[in-house]
This record gives sequence, structure tokens and C-alpha cells, in this order.
Amino acid sequence: MRALVTGGAGFIGSHLCEALAARGEKVFVLDDLSTGRFENIEHIPGLECIIDSTMNQEIVRDLVREVDVVFHLAATVGVQLVVNDPIHTIKNNIWGTEVVLEETCRYRRKLLITSTSEIYGRGSREIFQEDDDRVMGPTNRHRWCYAASKAIDEFLALAYWRQKKHPTVIVRLFNTVGPRQTGRYGMVIPTFVGQALHGEPLTVFGDGKQTRSFTYVGDVVPALVTLMERSEVNGDVFNIGSNTRVSIEELARRVITRAGSRSEIKFVPYEEAYGEGYEDMRHRAPCLDKIRAAIGYEPKTGLDQIIDKVIADVRARMR
Ligand code: UDP
Repeated sequence: MRALVTGGAGFIGSHLCEALAARGEKVFVLDDLSTGRFENIEHIPGLECIIDSTMNQEIVRDLVREVDVVFHLAATVGVQLVVNDPIHTIKNNIWGTEVVLEETCRYRRKLLITSTSEIYGRGSREIFQEDDDRVMGPTNRHRWCYAASKAIDEFLALAYWRQKKHPTVIVRLFNTVGPRQTGRYGMVIPTFVGQALHGEPLTVFGDGKQTRSFTYVGDVVPALVTLMERSEVNGDVFNIGSNTRVSIEELARRVITRAGSRSEIKFVPYEEAYGEGYEDMRHRAPCLDKIRAAIGYEPKTGLDQIIDKVIADVRARMR
């Protein structure tokens, strides 16, 4: 098998590439290194990395022709990045996916697209099911352009499936975390761990009572590989995540304890953290019934274990 991973130099992409290479697959990566890093994948044997954008249709076409399957992970992600550069976010996420869909359809290559739990928006529910309504904030809150761009990707992929029977599956990833994730673009766990290890205050945004469910990247990657192998999942959308919820304040306390840190917690108003384009959602956890029934998915790694792994990773980088 030969696989193309767009965004393969990123956090989740690099873990996927490792898993594919370990199965003996030939892995090609297409990554513009905007948020990905070559160091994430340079240790993977036999991997070929092409540094370019998914918006470059000729390059995408040449690569798709060479492989059997395509994992499309390349996207502009991270609340900080989205709020700072909504133009690039919208263009990159919509145009890049359009190109990947067109070329994989041309050569009939199975495509897995990673979407996001942001799709559900700020609905008042706490647990989200694939068919739930989506509740988006206003367009002057730039955060929502990310969810809107990924929703267009989903619409487009499902349209390719319906109109052209193009074999595609979509996954909505809920807060996925683990080693190599950077805190630079807003992600909370690497940010808190970095702050705790440097003895700086942990910046809890808002009142800290908002909750999230965090999933270990090592529990997500095998599910992506399995969904690629199964044809009965084509044309469908699946949540992947964990349903153990934690408040952000509690998360901060756990990070401090597990890092053996003396840091304190500092509550930061949202406007101060992200400016005016930001709006948070209170709760977000996945219903996992559908993915469980389809492939027997079950997250295994608990939050404390995840925090320990991230602490070890950040410590190793500080050396
Ligand atoms: N957050 C925080 N401090 C930080 C970064 C994030 O309190 O330094 C909060 C953020 O407001 C949100 C949660 O942590 O409520 C998760 O944020 P993240 O950006 O990791 O993911 P999101 O679920 O918002 O996409």
C-alpha cells in the first residue's frame, strides 16, 4: 500500500505517518510546513516529504496518481491562528480540500478527510451526535470561519460521494492531544504544560468552568487507519474522541500537580486572550455510539496518562 498524508508533518499527521510506516506502507507527505515541522517526520524510514500546499493542484494530482489512498489532514487549525488570519483559514481549508477531492475522484482513490468538533458550534448540548444541528455564532466572530470552512469541506465531500460515488469518509476529531502538539496556536494542554514547567502562571480563559474531552492521539490514529480499510463507512461522518469531560480549571490543577509545579492559576478574560473575534463554547464531548458500532472504537488512554506523556515530551524538548 502507498499512502499520501496531507498535513503529514503536523501533530496528528506525523503520528499517522509513523503508524502507516510501521505497517510497512510507503508514505508520502504533502505539507507546506505552515504549522507542521519537518523534525516531526524526519525519523520515519522511507517517507517522502513534498513541501507544498494542497492548493497546488498539479502537485496534488501527481502525488494522488502515485498512491492507493489519501488521508487529508492539511488545514489551518488552532484558535489563535484562525482568529489572526481568517482570510488564509477560509481559503486554505476550502480550496485545498476542493483540490484533493477533485484529484482523488479523478483517480478513484479512497479519501479520508479530517473534520472537527468545531462543526457543532456553540450548541447548548454537552454531547454531540453526528446528525445534530449546528449552531454557529455571527460572522463577525472570526472563530466561526474555521467551523464554516470545515462544514463546506464536509458538504463537498458528501456531494462527491452522492453524485460521483467517490469513496470518501469524514471524521470529526474532538480535542486530540499528545506529544508534538504545539501550544503556539492556542491549544490548551501543551500551553498549560509549558507554563507549569517554566513556573509561569497557567492562563485559564473565562471562568474555567467550560469543559472539554481530550483524546490521546495514539487512540485516534488506529481508528483513522481502520476507517480507511473499510468500504462500508464510505459516504459517512464519524465522531472520534473521548467522553471523559473535564473543566479547564480542573485541567490546570491536574497539570500543576502532575508536573510537580509551583505555578498558580491566572484567570484571563476572553477579550484579553484572543481579542474581539473570539467566542468560546461551554461544553463539548462526542457521542461515540456510531464509531463504536462501525469499528469497535474505544479510547484507552486516561487524562492523567495523557498529561504525563505531554509533560515528558515538553521536558525532552526543553533540554
Ligand atoms: N484555554 C485556556 N487557556 C489557554 C488556552 C485555551 O483556558 O491558554 C481554553 C479555551 O478557552 C477553551 C479550552 O481551553 O475553553 C480548549 O481550548 P483549545 O484552544 O485547546 O481547543 P478548543 O476546544 O477551543 O478548540
